[in-house]
Order: sequence, then C-alpha cells, then structure tokens
Amino acid sequence: MYVTLKEVLSQADKLNMAVGAFNTHNLEMLPAIIKGAEKQKTPVIIQTSCGTANYVGHRNLVAVCKSMADEYGVDVVLHLDHAKDFGEIRKAILAGYSSVMFDGSSLPFKENILGTQQVVNFAKEYGVSVEAELGTVGGTEDGIVVTQDEVFYTDPEDAVRFVEATGIDALAVAIGTNHGQYKSKTEISFEQLEKIQQAVDVPLVIHGGTGVKDEDVKRVIDLGIRKFNVGTELLVGWNKKSKDCYGANKENVSNRDNVMPCLDAIQAIVERKIQLFKNLDN
Ligand SMILES: [Zn+2]
Repeated sequence: MYVTLKEVLSQADKLNMAVGAFNTHNLEMLPAIIKGAEKQKTPVIIQTSCGTANYVGHRNLVAVCKSMADEYGVDVVLHLDHAKDFGEIRKAILAGYSSVMFDGSSLPFKENILGTQQVVNFAKEYGVSVEAELGTVGGTEDGIVVTQDEVFYTDPEDAVRFVEATGIDALAVAIGTNHGQYKSKTEISFEQLEKIQQAVDVPLVIHGGTGVKDEDVKRVIDLGIRKFNVGTELLVGWNKKSKDCYGANKENVSNRDNVMPCLDAIQAIVERKIQLFKNLDN
C-alpha cells in the first residue's frame, strides 16, 4: 500500500527496527529500491530532494510509487527530503507525496518552530506526515555544504519543546553523522542519542546513514532510531557500476545493458541495508 511515514514508523517502533529511507536520484533507480524492500518483506521510504522531484516530476514519482506499492505488495512512503521552502513542500503535498521534511535546522530555534508549525498545519489537512530537524547534520547534500564549525548536536531539552510546539511525526537528530560521507565512518554520540530518546516520544531519524558503521546500526536502533536515511551509498554504487558498463560496452548496445547492472547494484545495497535495519538479534 501507499502509506504515510507515521504509519510505517509506528509499526517499526513496535518491532524495534528502523525503516530504510533511500534517496532516489532519478526515475530509473526507484524500482530497484522497491524490489529490494519486497524481497526483504519490509516497508520502504523513497526520498527525493526538491531537485530530483522537480527534475523527474512530482506526479511521475507519486504514480510509480503507488503502482509499485500495489503490484509488489510493499508499503511505500514517498517523502520529500530536506525542504527549506514552504512552496516546495506545498507542491509535493498537492502532487500526492505522503510525507515531507521541513528542514529549518539552520534557522534560530523559534524560527524553526514557526516554519515547522506552518508545514504541519498544511500537511495535516492532507493526511501527510512531517519530519523536522533540530541541530545540524554536517557534510554536503544537494550542493549545500555544512562545515564542522556550523555543526551542533540536538539538545534534548530543546527537542522536548520543539516536539510539543510543532506536533511533528518524526525528529531528525544531529548526533555526529554527516551527509555525503562514504570514504570514512562516523563517530556517533550514543550518549547524546540516549538523552534525546529519554526526553522525547517521537520516532527519531538518522541522516547521513552511509557513514554509520554496520556495528553501530543495532545500537542506534535500540536507542530509538526508526528511520534510517541512505543516499550517498546508492549514488556511489550506481555511478561506479555505470562507469564500468559505459566504458566496457559498445556505443550501439541497448541502453538497458548499461542501466540494468546498475539496478542490480542498487538492489543489492538496499537489501543489505534493510537486513541491518531489521535489527534481527532481538
Ligand atoms: Zn539528510
């Protein structure tokens, strides 16, 4: 079924697992993510940046997610990732996205609350879920760079006030992860995550999931992470395989011969990640 973020995260909470949220960068990559979730028998969150949504077309993305959710029997959420502009959020909701993230993390605290409230009020009318962020995730995403000087962790007391004031469905936390990190791994502040988990009652979201060590996945899930974002690993997997194929194949081969091996690479990454996110050892 085509579902909301709130629904899948509440199921995940009952099973002490996380749901994989995978960034697709084009329409071609999307089916491989949903097929991976179907094989692993879990729900899946498809995420797009505003850039990808405008490039592919919001309604095209909604249509593919809905038709594949039905055909493959998978619970699929379509989520707008890191939107800072209400106009972009409105566009996605009106086109049929079932979840959005308002990212006011670079704003002063009160401005972040006000911006998030505006989005929650609008989204509620359409039954759409809202994720928001407090604190800053480092690194680079969609061309936006956050330097280490600008990074600050989510404060648990602020988190309580923020969640109460906004009524969000999920909270993205800053606990040391970085966007775009794939050559090295993150040192996560588990202590900070535990304080946040004890303070608030909403499902927590980790960004920059590619940089999280495999052995840390279980630990963060046990501390309340319910949505696990993975973007860079898919991008790197696709680009590497794509370079190999385009380099090796003749110019007049079917384009499928270059694209299908990339889809297999994506599906393999998605399945491996989902196996970790299921948190099976408990
Ligand atoms: Zn992010």
